[in-house]
Amino acid sequence: MRRIAVVGAGQAGLHLALGLRPQAPGSEPHSTRGAPEPYDVTLYAARTPREVRSGRVLSTQVMYGPALALERAAGLALWEDRAPRITSLGFAVADPSHSPGGGFTALLDEPAQSVDLRVKTAGWLELFEARGGRVEYGTVGPADLPGIAAAQDLTVVATGSGPLAEVFARDARHSPYDRPRRTLAACYVRGTRMPDGLGGPHVRVTPVAVDGTAAGEFFVLHALTLDGPCEIVLWEAVPGGPLDVWADRPGPDEVVKRTLELLRDRLPGEYALCRGMEPTDAGAALTGALTPVVRRPVAEVAPGTYVLGLGDAVVLNDPVSGQGSNSAARAAAHYLRAITGHGGEPFDRTWMLRTFAAHWEHARHVTAFTNLLLGPAPEHVRRILSAAARHPEVAHRYVNGFADPAGLAEWFMDADRADAYLAAAGAAVPADGG
Ligand SMILES: Cc1cc2nc3c(=O)[nH]c(=O)nc-3n(C[C@H](O)[C@H](O)[C@H](O)COP(=O)(O)OP(=O)(O)OC[C@H]3O[C@@H](n4cnc5c(N)ncnc54)[C@H](O)[C@@H]3O)c2cc1C
Repeated sequence: MRRIAVVGAGQAGLHLALGLRPQAPGSEPHSTRGAPEPYDVTLYAARTPREVRSGRVLSTQVMYGPALALERAAGLALWEDRAPRITSLGFAVADPSHSPGGGFTALLDEPAQSVDLRVKTAGWLELFEARGGRVEYGTVGPADLPGIAAAQDLTVVATGSGPLAEVFARDARHSPYDRPRRTLAACYVRGTRMPDGLGGPHVRVTPVAVDGTAAGEFFVLHALTLDGPCEIVLWEAVPGGPLDVWADRPGPDEVVKRTLELLRDRLPGEYALCRGMEPTDAGAALTGALTPVVRRPVAEVAPGTYVLGLGDAVVLNDPVSGQGSNSAARAAAHYLRAITGHGGEPFDRTWMLRTFAAHWEHARHVTAFTNLLLGPAPEHVRRILSAAARHPEVAHRYVNGFADPAGLAEWFMDADRADAYLAAAGAAVPADGG
């Protein structure tokens, strides 16, 4: 039996660990190819399900159709019937001179969903244990990894943005930033109102510019939390700017209070919709910042002993594009196929590098798109957003790009391709921008 350790029980680690133990003990073993391949899986989890549920929120975790399909195929879509079905994405445009329409909303081809990671990871952890999976509770440190890895055929590190990821060297080629590009503040709430004309659960995004300078973005979205459906508000504040008022790490009541103050001053329309909101629970708020980074996917933790990184541990993007959970699911499903397809062959460094490289073919598009959203919008992006406000086809294509950012390379990421597309769609913007 092949021994596999998964360090980190979050979106990616649990998806992989459950894929390696898809059945309860004694039931039919699982294999994707050829003879059934049994795995002896040990999962290292920092917190018990109870601790996770009673802790603070971790993300806003909107997942789009393709990632949800992977969870469904793996039998992991346990909250699908209860989570609000997000059917549209709406964008306001910060600088009215670039968009006479003032913004746009378009339907997603497939609904998205956001299930509180506290609900999801606690539930998946219990499922893993119910299937006879072994869980070691506690925080794994760098000094623990050689011992863990020496006892396994394969060790996968999926500890998210936590410090253990530093065992993987930063890959400067794909890591343009050395500090956070946004300060984050989120709160799970109830009591917001839907805007007129938007009948169902959605995500809406409002960029904020103050005196012509980009200050960040404000998001509202629908989700499922511990005790039912809720809304989530999220600030992505440019560090040092007027929206960056979160350094003291306030709790839920204070995040709501400051959010309403900011909205009253900066976004009166959103203030009118959000003024009745209240936090869902004592752990409903999250504040912080992260530095986007891509790391080398393989670390040598002792001479000749290697571990493979998965998810945010090796590809960490700012949440502004709402892609991390989606990428984590894709990566977990891909690693699972690579493991089960490898038969009894060794999981050596070459296999690890090859496995990550195949995932990076998709993940690189996510990183490029996210980093583009973090910087000043290039002129061709302004042209696209302006066109989207007047042409539903452009709006629809952009909105659905969030479900699979790889497709954006064909028309959004590059100025020539963007202009060719806009011309072909009859949506080219006049030279004066109007
Ligand atoms: C504010 C915010 C909003 C976001 N919004 C979205 C969104 O809308 N859509 C989207 O797709 N993504 C979003 N993301 C990103 C998404 O949450 C992450 O990309 C995703 O959770 C990554 O999955 P992961 O398994 O790699 O890491 P995580 O889900 O973070 O899991 C890591 C796990 O490892 C554990 N761990 C950490 N260190 C150790 C250790 N030393 N030993 C043992 N265990 C350890 C942690 O407790 C955790 O359980 C958002 C993130 C933030 C911060």
